[in-house]
Amino acid sequence: MTQTQKPSLIGETRQGLAARLRALDLPEREIKMRVAQLWNWIYFHGARDFDAMLNVSKMLRARLAEHYTLERPEIVSEQVSNDGTRKWLIRLRPVDAHDKGAEIECVYIPEEDRGTLCVSSQVGCTLTCTFCHTGTQRLVRNLTAQEIVAQLVVARDRLGDFPGLTPPTDGLIPKGDGVRAVSNVVFMGMGEPLYNLDHVSDALGVLSDGEGLSLSRRRITVSTSGVVPQIGELGARTGAMLAISLHAVRDDLRDKLVPLNKKYPIAELLQACRDYPGASNARRITFEYVMLKEINDSDADARELVRLLKGVPAKINLIPFNPWPGAPYECSDWERIEKFSDIVFNAGYASPVRTPRGRDILAACGQLKSETEKLRARARLAAQ
Ligand code: SF4
Repeated sequence: MTQTQKPSLIGETRQGLAARLRALDLPEREIKMRVAQLWNWIYFHGARDFDAMLNVSKMLRARLAEHYTLERPEIVSEQVSNDGTRKWLIRLRPVDAHDKGAEIECVYIPEEDRGTLCVSSQVGCTLTCTFCHTGTQRLVRNLTAQEIVAQLVVARDRLGDFPGLTPPTDGLIPKGDGVRAVSNVVFMGMGEPLYNLDHVSDALGVLSDGEGLSLSRRRITVSTSGVVPQIGELGARTGAMLAISLHAVRDDLRDKLVPLNKKYPIAELLQACRDYPGASNARRITFEYVMLKEINDSDADARELVRLLKGVPAKINLIPFNPWPGAPYECSDWERIEKFSDIVFNAGYASPVRTPRGRDILAACGQLKSETEKLRARARLAAQ
């Protein structure tokens, strides 16, 4: 079996690792301990080779290496913005003999005291929000929980964020005692996470496990365009922080910007937010609002936004629109953004404007897209 054909253990859940060990006929009494050992090596140490696992017997290490790998998805390209933001084009491991490996984009946004990784949950997207570059890429497939987790493992490798690794010298890396290069994860990359809830939930379990990658659930935010029936379930199953891609305060306009609104209009969406498990003033829901010139940026829109969110433990992120090739919108003028944010600020919402990051490398919000297209059935058949 070639290295590429061997299943990788990177991104596996505890149950998944146990199943892999059982497949090697390990005695049941050993499984829990072996899972704990592998977990520590893979997610705390970032091991890339079974031989590094010194508290695992030589024989078991050899058997693991014979059947499995610790191979990560491949970084095809890395772009570093002049503001320190990094964008990686990542090629996933092939899912079958005909698959060359789908490609996704993943973005790292460093600040002095923290680093945020923006991960993808789908190749392409189920939805077609008209301000979003990913919305122009048809859904190819959902990512598995492993592929979602692997984005953090790849990032920590590249940023020297596992014990014994050296951080890169190009670009900004947060420093300070106990500060991890990746301290926050946001599901704001390619795809609608709530149309892949099972894998997103499993991935969140691995990301937040305190004996491995150890990200606090308060530092993991899942952003949705408003798949109302899944919102409560997300909260109940994962305890993740919630972000809503709102972008309009009237249904007729949101139907155009976020077509999913036709299925789940604003009133239903806000009710799901009011009912979100764990939401409180200490755990506010983030409402994202892209600033589109003369589309959704009037004073009346700002006042209506404030009115709509009354009684919801909310914070607002105004996102200056990030242009992409062929985009049908322009970014609001800065004076307009400031006027809009003043209205929101005076209503009690602190620092609403999100600073655009990585625009020069098409890494900013709504700019992600990969070239992977769904292999049409005919093409796949032709390839056989
Ligand atoms: S905003 Fe999100 S849900 Fe909408 S098209 Fe873009 S990636 Fe998909």
